[in-house]
Amino acid sequence: MALQRFVIVGAGQAGGRAAEALRAAGFKGEIVLIGEERHEPYERPALSKAVLLGEQQAASTLIHPREWYAAQNIDLRTRARVEAIAPVSRTVITADGQRVEYSKLLLCSGSRVRPLPGAPDHLRGVHYLRTIEEAERLAAELVPGRRLVVIGGGFIGLEVAASAVKRGVAVSVVERQGAVLDRAVPAAMAGYVESLHRAQGVNLRLGVAVTAIHGASAIESVELADGTVLDADLVVIGIGIIPNTELAEAAGAASSDGVVVDEYCRTTLEGVYAAGDVTNHYNPILDRRVRLESWQNAQNQAIAAARNMIGAPQPYAEVPWFWSDQFEVNIQLVGVVEPGLEIVWRGDRQSGRSVAFGLAGGRLRLAAGFNVGADIRFARRLIEAGAEVSPQQLADPAVKLKDLIPNNAARRSLAA
Ligand code: NDP
Repeated sequence: MALQRFVIVGAGQAGGRAAEALRAAGFKGEIVLIGEERHEPYERPALSKAVLLGEQQAASTLIHPREWYAAQNIDLRTRARVEAIAPVSRTVITADGQRVEYSKLLLCSGSRVRPLPGAPDHLRGVHYLRTIEEAERLAAELVPGRRLVVIGGGFIGLEVAASAVKRGVAVSVVERQGAVLDRAVPAAMAGYVESLHRAQGVNLRLGVAVTAIHGASAIESVELADGTVLDADLVVIGIGIIPNTELAEAAGAASSDGVVVDEYCRTTLEGVYAAGDVTNHYNPILDRRVRLESWQNAQNQAIAAARNMIGAPQPYAEVPWFWSDQFEVNIQLVGVVEPGLEIVWRGDRQSGRSVAFGLAGGRLRLAAGFNVGADIRFARRLIEAGAEVSPQQLADPAVKLKDLIPNNAARRSLAA
């Protein structure tokens, strides 16, 4: 009988969820899940929030305990780095010389932090945040009275800033773009997030680069291009991630800002699929290719990949969704940012509950909600439906968003 062994490279959230989905869908063949970290697959959202606040143990982020993998007959190999893929012989080769043949391969190789060029990473007090160990190390250093400079005003930077302020740390955030969350939302939406941070005492320095990090054995200060020197006991560098595409590229897979996959999670190599941060996929709802760095994508694209691998075709087609908790505000984004969006606000920003919509061509493309989960659910459905909406309707709190969803409206008029 032909080999029925699915190998998953990368034991992060995507790899773990894919293995789980294969078994849940009844796959009876072998599953080998190979990951570089020492941990079983875990989810990262809590690492920059509850773990830094000391409210949650990092170990509680594991998706399943180790025994679960054995019980599911999943061969989980941690601390193992895959060095090469030989697509003709359908084999992966690990750094310690293991050769594992596959009938199908799923690449969930994820991403790694973008290093800040020239940063003295050896200085005490310089941190990046991606792994359980890094979160534990940083959490231990968030002591009242310390001064933290966060480099990068993206999700990591802002969540770390919010957690650190809550722990009594004095925080500055340096972002080289003119607004925070520049890759995720238009500046008009980011302004609200900036005001939240300023109101909590965060020293936001926007549109300025870091030129030097000073210190002898421990961090002492951070110098900015405008000449400002920020004294610091701690630095967190959160300037983005780099998708781990090298393995797939060396094996000959097409790659362009991520490993290229179609909506069935297939790479350009026969029998090789990919899911999660590492992919650049075609999204049929948005009608464009995207590379997403999110919890939703790590989980749901991996589940779709698993189904496609067992021959139960399921296109991966979801409106992108992100969430972030900063201070007492739950921020949710649906859609993706694109140039030239018309921005419309609904709700009173002073009250702390509002939503900003981004429209293009009379259709909703992006929404950012602040403590308004229900609105975001309807916004997602409006984007999904490609519904025509006007700025006036969106701005008017008397117009219920759910009434703008085409099928909802049709259902109600039938019932009437
Ligand atoms: P982001 O890409 O979100 O943001 C990084 C920011 O840092 C960018 O605005 C970038 O600007 C800026 N930057 C780059 N270089 C410098 C520099 N030298 N000085 C100052 N600013 C600089 O990445 P993060 O590191 O915040 O997040 C890493 C990953 O983790 C992302 O995938 C993110 O989505 C994910 N994450 C998601 C969360 C969520 O969904 N809630 C929470 C935390 C993390 P430029 O564009 O010019 O490079």
